[in-house]
Amino acid sequence: MTTRYRKPLPDLSFEEGKEFWTYTKKHELRIPRCVDCGTYRWRPRPMCANCYSMNTEWARTSGKGTLYTWTVVHHPMGEAWVSEVPYAVAVVTLDEGVRLVSNILDCPPEELRAGMPLEVVFEDVTDEITLPKFRPVRQRRRL
Ligand SMILES: [Zn+2]
Repeated sequence: MTTRYRKPLPDLSFEEGKEFWTYTKKHELRIPRCVDCGTYRWRPRPMCANCYSMNTEWARTSGKGTLYTWTVVHHPMGEAWVSEVPYAVAVVTLDEGVRLVSNILDCPPEELRAGMPLEVVFEDVTDEITLPKFRPVRQRRRL
């Protein structure tokens, strides 16, 4: 990256979540899942809340989901956001059932609709960090 990224970055000292960013760097959206019962562990934590197993795998998701809810930010939080307002901060429900907070790209906030289908896109913001964002899945028009 040639320009310095000016917004806050994820805390890589959070041990259980560090691997998440390793996968997003590879443009893979993975969520920790219990090896013994298949329950996703989001937010990442060492023990399964369902069966108390300590066995975890980072399962690759489909990258697909739907818009659960959102808010539109009109007032920039700092200079880095001035050119971006208004923008949406959204809660996305992945097809795997896990909910993530992210941004919706390629869609004006006034066109957002609850339940709209979304897909992940990856933004390489620094040499170490790639952020998962989402955009609407556009229906292909039949000719
Ligand atoms: Zn389990």
